[in-house]
Amino acid sequence: MTAPPVDAAPGGQARSAPLIGRDAEPTIFEMSVPGRRAWSFPRTELPEWSAEELVPGAYLRPELLDLPEVSERDLVGHMTRLTHRQYSVDLGAYPLGSCTMKYNPKACDEAAGLPGLAGIHPSAPASLTQGWLELLWRLGDILCEITGMSAVTLQPPAGAAGELTGLLLMRAWHQAQGQGHRHKVLIPDSAHGTNPASVTLSGYDTVTIPTDHRGLLDMAALADRLDGAVAGIMLTNPNTLGLFEEDIVQIAQAVHRAGGLVYYDGANLNAILGVTRPGDMGFDIVHLNLHKTFAVPHGGGGPGAGPVAVSPRLAEFLPGPIPTRMDGGGFDWVTPPRSIGRVHSWHGNALALARAYTYILLNGGDGLRRVAEGAVLNARWLRQRLEGTYDSPFERPNLHEFVVSTATLKRKRGLRALDVAKRLLEEGFHAPTVYFPLIVAEALMIEPTETESPQTLEALASALLRIAKEDGEEAGKAPRTTPVGRVDEARAARRLIPTWDARERPIS
Ligand SMILES: *Cc1c(COP(=O)(O)O)cnc(C)c1O
Repeated sequence: MTAPPVDAAPGGQARSAPLIGRDAEPTIFEMSVPGRRAWSFPRTELPEWSAEELVPGAYLRPELLDLPEVSERDLVGHMTRLTHRQYSVDLGAYPLGSCTMKYNPKACDEAAGLPGLAGIHPSAPASLTQGWLELLWRLGDILCEITGMSAVTLQPPAGAAGELTGLLLMRAWHQAQGQGHRHKVLIPDSAHGTNPASVTLSGYDTVTIPTDHRGLLDMAALADRLDGAVAGIMLTNPNTLGLFEEDIVQIAQAVHRAGGLVYYDGANLNAILGVTRPGDMGFDIVHLNLHKTFAVPHGGGGPGAGPVAVSPRLAEFLPGPIPTRMDGGGFDWVTPPRSIGRVHSWHGNALALARAYTYILLNGGDGLRRVAEGAVLNARWLRQRLEGTYDSPFERPNLHEFVVSTATLKRKRGLRALDVAKRLLEEGFHAPTVYFPLIVAEALMIEPTETESPQTLEALASALLRIAKEDGEEAGKAPRTTPVGRVDEARAARRLIPTWDARERPIS
């Protein structure tokens, strides 16, 4: 291999960057010096194709993109500095309620990186990809076992995509029953924001059911809103307060009596893995977030998997094609007879599915149950430590996550949930989810996960207790030690800039 000498090009030295800190670092564009290159393999004797030979002229840009030119050394330094500015599950506790961020075993990445899995083109025929098909078929089978359902699609690439798929299945089923006029979907006021968004996207109308004094679905309000226009109900159980809906069997029966279907938002299945199943509670449709409950690294919105599992009567509507074991013992892709069609290109985020499958095999059935028990134990322990300092809006015992509030601390010392979250960053932890669920003022929604040790939990508890003694004005300046300080969230939301052009908007 040959590396071009770093200083071969005119322009002199690249600006040196501080290691990790808050000072403005040069952008990759500012580091650019014409002619600088990274290492590459030497050219061969084979003729090179020109751009015009590869792409029709009409599709070519009239001029070359103005891309930065940097040496490999400067590029690696730049990327490494950026990674050091990140917080991640690999670094420490990330107690983000609802959207579980647990440590992911590296063995899952190793398995997903096997050349036999990673090196296959998605359009390779079934005859050449029997191993992949078997993996997906086995994963689907296990997810049915875990949820108590009978058939599954692995296509949806995220929880929200799973919700939309599930609601389209609900719609297809009602239409097949001659009930296409049903247009309402019931959702508790504690629901994750994607639920009403998916309902709207699927063409249904959201009807909200309030939470009662127990922190559970208000049964009287449910009875009041159930009528012949209801297509179904979407529930999270345990709900987003971390509380188990104890009336779940009666709720499912009431909705079924009214002709509706019962949808389980299983984005976060951590509390019930191997303990109980949505199918046994009476649910018809379940989506799971493999990236929250199993092992798929999903920071920064990166690829997830939101399979949807259904009861027998909905199986014929599932998206296809589905990996299926054929009579001869081999595997093939089969599309169900009344399929709603594809919801994703190819076969979903296949390597995310391989990671989750590996995680499930590594744990085994008893191990998955221990995941749930550990998640609940850790959350209960932490809540106990915060008792008396932070407000607990509901008394019931929580499962894998819990919600506390700084309402009293705010009244006394101006300490808001946001201040606690930002102060926690200075203590070396990621913040919990804040201001959700919407029904609790100054909410901190904490999910420590089963992957954190008692020592880490104790450190997290001490940090939260220490912060609770501070006053809002001082804590309001946090975070002071992170690469980025307190941002103006209102301005960021109102003047969202989704693209970045270094020449127009250099980062400063
Ligand atoms: C995260 C989450 C979702 C949405 O999942 P995405 O993969 O982020 O689209 C839905 N419901 C609940 C309860 C969640 O926690």
